[in-house]
Amino acid sequence: GERQPTNLNKLAEEYLRLAYQGLRAKDKTFNAELRTDFDPALPRVSVVATELGRVLLNLLNNAFYAVHKRQQQSEAGYAPLVTLQTRRVGAQVEIRVADNGTGMPAEVQAKIFQPFFTTKPTGEGTGLGLSLSYDIISQGHGGTLAVASQPGQGTEFVITLPA
Ligand code: ADP
Ligand code: MG
Repeated sequence: GERQPTNLNKLAEEYLRLAYQGLRAKDKTFNAELRTDFDPALPRVSVVATELGRVLLNLLNNAFYAVHKRQQQSEAGYAPLVTLQTRRVGAQVEIRVADNGTGMPAEVQAKIFQPFFTTKPTGEGTGLGLSLSYDIISQGHGGTLAVASQPGQGTEFVITLPA
């Protein structure tokens, strides 16, 4: 694919719907609040839209999996939430994908970008999503992919791209 100036708000919104509908198709009882906070002044960013979409889909699928898993623990008052945010920060653009799911301990977090690392049962995860995403963002687009996570509270991934 070719890089093209892209409206990342629009792309992010499309992939959020796609990921949510995909999960709902598999489990009709699943519900999560989707929150978006898009920077209306976000500049267009030169990306390969299909590749960036793939990254968003990986991050969103992981986020939905984590809130779904926490929801199955039947904790009183738990309300699944996935948040997607865009921001211009100086000469860079940030896309944040946050969830209030299971979170992950430090020893898991240390390995998530390694190919084939997964904590999911066979058939539910290949462990390739984040290593592929990391390569697409860093090698493919000259950006960074970072994570912050608190076990029992949630996780946030931050994609940073040169604007
Ligand atoms: P897969 O989803 O196939 O397991 P990934 O590379 O996408 O592979 O993710 C690797 C691992 O990182 C997951 O198995 C999970 O343990 C952890 N992980 C990724 N995203 C999240 C998240 N949002 N919340 C909790 N754990 C996560
Ligand atoms: Mg995954």
